[in-house]
Amino acid sequence: MRNIREIIVHCTAMKAGRKVAVAEIDGWHKARGWRGIGYHYVVMLDGSVSVGRSELSVGAHCLGRNSTSIGVVYVGGLDNDGLPCDTRTEAQKAALKKILTELLDKYPQAKIYGHRDFSQTACPCFDARREYEHLTPLTAVR
Ligand SMILES: [Zn+2]
Repeated sequence: MRNIREIIVHCTAMKAGRKVAVAEIDGWHKARGWRGIGYHYVVMLDGSVSVGRSELSVGAHCLGRNSTSIGVVYVGGLDNDGLPCDTRTEAQKAALKKILTELLDKYPQAKIYGHRDFSQTACPCFDARREYEHLTPLTAVR
């Protein structure tokens, strides 16, 4: 097992409402010379969650933190002018909370961050660290 210390939230940096398939993201990342999709989970506009890279594998989503983290991305992150914007749908907000809680349950020593906590980027276009700092593992609320 990898020693997971960070769960890092991202956006796909796409305009609000634009859909994308895992295979498409996989293609972008292969074009960058990576082994394929760099994120472990993708939260779609309708709140469905798709698996990207296996959790057991080191991701490719946050320079310097990949070996100790899980990467979760939501589809969106830009307004109609292409500027950073929290475009999460209600379904995505609910799905993010659920998957992040499940990951905390699996990796109770981990903390949730946004990509921007580690890099000069607006990603994921909201303050993930603050929004999720009160999330607790499922085991703690049972
Ligand atoms: Zn990011």
